[in-house]
Amino acid sequence: MALVVQKYGGTSVANLERINNVADRIIRTCLEGNQVVVVLSAMAGETDRLIGLANDATGGKPNPREYDVLISTGEQVTVSLMAMMLMDKGFPAKSFLGSQIRIVTDKNHSTARIRKIDAGLIQQELDKKRIIIVAGFQGVDRKGNITTLGIGGSDTSAVAIAAAIGADYCETFTDVDGVYTTDPNVYDKARKLKKISYDEMLELAGAGAKVLHQRSVELAKLYNVPLYVRSAFNDDEGTLVTREDQDMEKEVVSGVTYDRNQAKVSVIRVPDKPGIAAKLFTPLSDCNIIVDMIIQNASVDGYTDLTFTIPKKDVAQVEKILDAVAKEVNADRVHIDPNISKVSLVGLGMRSHSGVASKMFAALAGEGINIQMISTSEIKISCVIEAKYTELAVRVLHDAFALEMAS
Ligand code: ADP
Ligand code: ASP
Ligand code: MG
Repeated sequence: MALVVQKYGGTSVANLERINNVADRIIRTCLEGNQVVVVLSAMAGETDRLIGLANDATGGKPNPREYDVLISTGEQVTVSLMAMMLMDKGFPAKSFLGSQIRIVTDKNHSTARIRKIDAGLIQQELDKKRIIIVAGFQGVDRKGNITTLGIGGSDTSAVAIAAAIGADYCETFTDVDGVYTTDPNVYDKARKLKKISYDEMLELAGAGAKVLHQRSVELAKLYNVPLYVRSAFNDDEGTLVTREDQDMEKEVVSGVTYDRNQAKVSVIRVPDKPGIAAKLFTPLSDCNIIVDMIIQNASVDGYTDLTFTIPKKDVAQVEKILDAVAKEVNADRVHIDPNISKVSLVGLGMRSHSGVASKMFAALAGEGINIQMISTSEIKISCVIEAKYTELAVRVLHDAFALEMAS
């Protein structure tokens, strides 16, 4: 008998028929002798609809606390429906919101991080032989305010619960049957991976592969939770995200991914002296804005340009902050370009192979795609390019590294 956490995403619970199918799969898992904790997302499109309502109601400036109260409601619908349908089929089940099962988070609305989960409470319910259905994506801060974990955060709810209760493994069921060498909805030559290391998945998720929420992979690695990505619509084996092994190290490049949700910010002609970068970036970090890919040009006549990327959703706020700071530090001006995307290659073998970057640059150049920024980590190379070339770049890189073929 295993203790299993199963997470079902929005497309898997998009309507009553699908919820019914998921209920049957949960029952099957129980009948195979397992104990199951289920984590659900809202019905497909529902969270986006709620976000739209909040923005329409407030001219795009909803109060953060009330925003989370609103956008967390989609999951309340799916968990209650699932519990009802399971009970209808003769299986005892009970739904819980994040606040009821005590998923305690910090107080950062819409980007909250889980601090603690009351595993005792979950265990008590399991001991009563019930199937537990938990609302993903949400928690509660120490003062009782509802929080949400960021888009895609239900994956993180599931892994955090799996870690807290010591589950044998966690399965996330979605609309694709595993992790592929690239987004299979962008390139039909994408190949399904049997296994991928936590570190590679972490880099892929961080670079835009939304198949798993980045924080869920971080937690899976930290607590050593085996994490499976599987289809909610078939019984295929899926992909195991797990600890690195020797086979994995042979792959120079395991995947290519893209992120369309970034914007490029340039602060032009900044006086090149100590303390200026801190002055520019501190107010951004104070507002929880995630800055990535920072480049500073060589100094000319005591001036330099600073360029970096930020999440597109933060453009208006960043513009306001930086316009003020630019004046204060006597920079010439701030330019923001939302019309970019980031394409990235990820692979453990990059640690020991040279030539990956040059091959990447040559492949992009071959299609006339200009590289605006470059950044590297031990197992990742990212390039910022013009947004309209995103899909072309993904396909070209996938071909250049022959990712459709298993090595
Ligand atoms: P869910 O609602 O089930 O959480 P998501 O839409 O968040 O599902 O994630 C699944 C999607 O992730 C797929 O439909 C696919 O388009 C996208 N995706 C991006 N990169 C990859 C990849 N490397 N492998 C598989 N899917 C990917
Ligand atoms: N429903 C939320 C979303 O659409 C949370 C999730 O699916 O993980 O992102
Ligand atoms: Mg998701």
